[in-house]
Amino acid sequence: MAEKFKKILIANRGEIALRIIRTAREMGIKTVAIYSTADRESLHVRFADEAVCIGPPSSTDSYLSIPKIMAAVEITNADAVHPGYGFLSENADFAEICTEYGVKFIGPRPEQIRQMGDKITAKDTMIKAKVPVVPGDGELLKSVADGLEQAKKMGYPVIIKATAGGGGKGMRIINKPDEFQKAWDSARAEAKAAFGNDGMYMEKYIVEPRHIEIQIIGDQFGRVIHLSERDCSVQRRHQKLVEECPSPFMTDELRQAMGEAAIKAGEAINYEGVGTVEFLVDAERNFYFMEMNTRIQVEHPVTEEVIDHDLIKEQIKIAYGERLGEDNYYPKGHAIECRINAEDPWNNFRPSPGKITSFHSSKGHGVRVDTHVYAGYTIPPYYDSMIAKLIVRAPTREEAITKMERALNEFIIEGVKTTVPFHQWLMKQQDFRDGNFDTGWLGQQKLPEGK
Ligand code: ADP
Repeated sequence: MAEKFKKILIANRGEIALRIIRTAREMGIKTVAIYSTADRESLHVRFADEAVCIGPPSSTDSYLSIPKIMAAVEITNADAVHPGYGFLSENADFAEICTEYGVKFIGPRPEQIRQMGDKITAKDTMIKAKVPVVPGDGELLKSVADGLEQAKKMGYPVIIKATAGGGGKGMRIINKPDEFQKAWDSARAEAKAAFGNDGMYMEKYIVEPRHIEIQIIGDQFGRVIHLSERDCSVQRRHQKLVEECPSPFMTDELRQAMGEAAIKAGEAINYEGVGTVEFLVDAERNFYFMEMNTRIQVEHPVTEEVIDHDLIKEQIKIAYGERLGEDNYYPKGHAIECRINAEDPWNNFRPSPGKITSFHSSKGHGVRVDTHVYAGYTIPPYYDSMIAKLIVRAPTREEAITKMERALNEFIIEGVKTTVPFHQWLMKQQDFRDGNFDTGWLGQQKLPEGK
């Protein structure tokens, strides 16, 4: 086994940076925070052993700047880098540069990030591993005419997606040919604005889909295990709002089959680290590989709560060469996570940055809050609007919902609008309580009017 790291630089911000600092400290490893001038007051800066300012607010000049991050690695003498999620976490070049500098990138090897980052290669790899995939070859669409021809072959409904996609942007469902042009124009404009790349590809739209993903871990010796699923079907415009484990839609047989498929996916690329294999599951419980995320995910705490393991610790142990045990992990009890965003849920989820004047986070048995904010903290407008994750754990789903309602009621955030009222509304919906929802469900609901 390689030597334990002495100092990890966290190439990220916000709650995930803080989350990593906590585990590193418990493992006796020193931490370095990096921050932009907009994040001086963030808790990750305060709680790390050292902190380096790496530039102005704009992500391109700070959290996405590889030269600046590598300079911070050099001056602090860090021997490992944890990329968190988002930013450079799935950037194979960054992983490669870390390796060239002789620092360990806590995550998969660059070639594994590349294999899964490219959607065409990812699907080909899965097909070879005999994992069912969402129909569609992933090739770039040349024009509307080309798209119409392919959609005819595939059969409607179809979905067009941005090749550079992420966060649900640049995606449109098309039910019939005369909807094509409009969907094409708006998806391309959205993709261009978000990613500077308007390349599109097409997939069969899986009807009434549930988004169910399998958490996997692979070690450096070729062993891959799974840690069961997360259901992320409560989505707004293809973005996750609530996640839970186990999935209310899950059966033992389906978990077995999806778990095996996810392991095959990991084994096919000799996966090293924690990763998530995302599937869409239709009403008949057929499942289709969608994509693999080669990093820790926002929603990892629900898995941690029901399998009672620290996934960041697992990542670090794998990175310094520890072997995995033989067993897969199965959920005990039920966990739900609500993403608390600084957005006004009753006004189209409009971002609401600004100063938090008062803050009281929920507490009590089975309640966990992962956050980097506090009373007096100003939410900068430059980054993601997520300010906290509220996670509850209870023996059954019903009790978890009751606990979540209790916890939401005592979560006080003043000065900015948040999605707490949305989650309070959601917990009361009969369909949610019954586990009766797919990724389109929320879009069909009438939300309370703006105040
Ligand atoms: P991103 O990378 O932008 O997050 P994903 O490819 O992970 O995008 O898809 C996000 C969501 O979009 C999925 O969880 C699902 O709700 C929806 N989606 C994507 N592809 C399909 C499809 N082929 N059929 C049905 N829904 C889809």
